[in-house]
Amino acid sequence: MRQVAFYGKGGIGKSTTQQNTAAAFASMGNKLMVVGCDPKADCTRLLLGGTRQLSVLDALRDTGPESVQLDTVLVKGYGDVKCVEAGGPEPGVGCGGRGVITAIQTLETLGAYKSELDYVFYDVLGDVVCGGFAMPIREGYAEEIYIVCSGEYMALFAANNIAKGIKKFGERGYARLGGLICNSRMVENEYEMVAEFAKRINTKLIHFVPRSKDVQRAEINRKTVIEFDPELAQANEYRQLASKIEANKDFTIPTPISQDELEELMRDYGIVD
Ligand code: ADP
Ligand code: SF4
Ligand code: MG
Repeated sequence: MRQVAFYGKGGIGKSTTQQNTAAAFASMGNKLMVVGCDPKADCTRLLLGGTRQLSVLDALRDTGPESVQLDTVLVKGYGDVKCVEAGGPEPGVGCGGRGVITAIQTLETLGAYKSELDYVFYDVLGDVVCGGFAMPIREGYAEEIYIVCSGEYMALFAANNIAKGIKKFGERGYARLGGLICNSRMVENEYEMVAEFAKRINTKLIHFVPRSKDVQRAEINRKTVIEFDPELAQANEYRQLASKIEANKDFTIPTPISQDELEELMRDYGIVD
């Protein structure tokens, strides 16, 4: 069982990329569980045909820890992918990251981590790499990490911060970085810039996902692109990403760069004047 986490700035396309990759893996015969670790609890929507699923934290609040049943918080979606949303604390109360760990530990107690699973995906909010949202890394759940980014400054700024978090815990023997996934925003020299940024932080650009209207078309139909129309070129991109993750053997402790170096990189590639 490989435990794979997708981190990245909010709105960058983590959940879209993660669910399409999960659907691609499932279509290639793999068994998966997806654990949404975003308090928005919208990480499994496309796999579940748009239904909003009861989160583990809501179930714990509603019925108490003794009465939570696995089949109320774990629902099978496209390709039999097991879908779970960790959920979040009530607004203004508690720590979101701690809540995620409580949810994961509840899943373990309920027997969700079955040996037949090939992959467990975590979809983690990555704007703040605070102690809370570093929890899946720190507690050893996120073993293999992919950072979803683009060529925009804020996306790379967040990616660099996530790399700092991985470095901190990677040095103690936990998580490793498997690569960057560039979810294109169609900025100038995007491929070259993200590939260079990846090299500087001691990783690689594992796949460049083009921006495509078919992503929105599928989303309006409440589906991943893989389910909506597996013949589309965009579906093939996600299958390629899945194949690259499957074959990946190159995991590193990242070497984040300074803010000055990041700004210089963006100037060199013509994004910032
Ligand atoms: P996150 O989980 O990082 O907050 P989402 O996966 O929810 O981000 O994506 C935000 C929006 O971007 C979604 O509405 C989605 O349709 C759109 N999107 C993501 N990836 C692509 C892409 N490759 N092409 C076009 N639109 C995309
Ligand atoms: Fe929020 Fe992070 Fe602080 Fe937890 S550690 S309360 S998730 S900012
Ligand atoms: Mg998301």
